[in-house]
Amino acid sequence: MTPGRRAVVVVCDSLAADLVRPETAPALSALRAAGADFAQARSVFPSTTRTSSASMATGCLPAAHGLLGNTMVIDEGLGLVRLSVGKPDFLDRLRRATGRTLARPTWAQRLAGRGGSIVMSNVSPGAAYLQDPEGFGHVYHRSGSFGPGRRPLDDGLAIEVGAAGDAAMTDRFCREVLRARAPALAVLWLSEPDHTAHRTALGSPAHRAMIAHADACVEQVRRTVDALDPRGEDILLVACSDHGMETVARQIDLDALLADAGWKDAPDSPDVVVAPNGTAALLYFAAAARPRIPRLARWLQAQDFAGRVFWGDALAEVGLPAGGPLGIALALRADDAANAHGVPGRSVSVSSPFSDTSAPGCAQHGGLGPNEQHPFLCLRGGGFRPGRRHQRVSLIDIAPTVLRHLGAAADGMQGRGLQ
Ligand SMILES: [Zn+2]
Repeated sequence: MTPGRRAVVVVCDSLAADLVRPETAPALSALRAAGADFAQARSVFPSTTRTSSASMATGCLPAAHGLLGNTMVIDEGLGLVRLSVGKPDFLDRLRRATGRTLARPTWAQRLAGRGGSIVMSNVSPGAAYLQDPEGFGHVYHRSGSFGPGRRPLDDGLAIEVGAAGDAAMTDRFCREVLRARAPALAVLWLSEPDHTAHRTALGSPAHRAMIAHADACVEQVRRTVDALDPRGEDILLVACSDHGMETVARQIDLDALLADAGWKDAPDSPDVVVAPNGTAALLYFAAAARPRIPRLARWLQAQDFAGRVFWGDALAEVGLPAGGPLGIALALRADDAANAHGVPGRSVSVSSPFSDTSAPGCAQHGGLGPNEQHPFLCLRGGGFRPGRRHQRVSLIDIAPTVLRHLGAAADGMQGRGLQ
């Protein structure tokens, strides 16, 4: 470890790079201009918050860390069952079923005893806890806050999802985490503009107000960092989003469509189980149903809702595991048509029993659309030269960059330190 070095990571959930503009996000725009702006940053697939959280924490793709979406299908002993990864008890069920949570170490684990980590997150409990599922550092979330050893903390985060909660969390983060406790790694994960965009149109006045709100939170963090490190050498500040969004063109009920076409016995049968992930869907197969995979993949590719279909060895090309119960990954069809507010990018989405948001006209993510795959990513301090970078980088490159700055090992990570 390098003494005195620290890293601060701020995530504005769902804020696409193209929506970071001076008129709605002046502080982020200034930060991008003053720092290293990675203009070709990409999300992972599925481009969901929980997958992104695990990929940021481990520096690995989903095939390696094993967390495959906002919804996952596991076998708890009675056949394949579909679960929301966002629920507070998901990681306990995954651990019971598989003997583990994430299959790769997180940055919290790597920094335990080496300056430590504190995460404050206002997104889903699942996404928050995936930063540090085994409790090596501190994670604060409204559903429960935990210290090392998953010890419940008395000073929890009593906030609501949304702008007011984000503001209260940012205040506490700057005062308590950055100024007083000073861990090696501090992560602040804002719920906006994601929370509002799932309920309204991209570029609408409500959505723009939430971008401005997230921008103000980032500005508060930047000012605090500047006060603590006026020369900009010791603290590496990372400002980013996990993914962008697409406007929902229409929603499909993939369970019903598959059952109607005879690919599964019934919409809720355990032979073929759909894990809806917004604008993507992952299809899991019981052993007896696996011979259906090649023909079903070809059928899916011919449907008007399909974008790209991956199965067999092609799953590995998009960072997903091949050879297990996951048989097919589907990215729904996206196009670049603009919505009523002039924001381009539409996609078909898959309805989910775990979510009643993201109706047509509202925003969603999960797939491979160009906007949902295009988060912003900028770094300042820690020796980074200002300027725009054009190399293709992704979320998995953040952790090795942070660990390099801190002087900690990043062995086994698939990402590469940013330059
Ligand atoms: Zn997200």
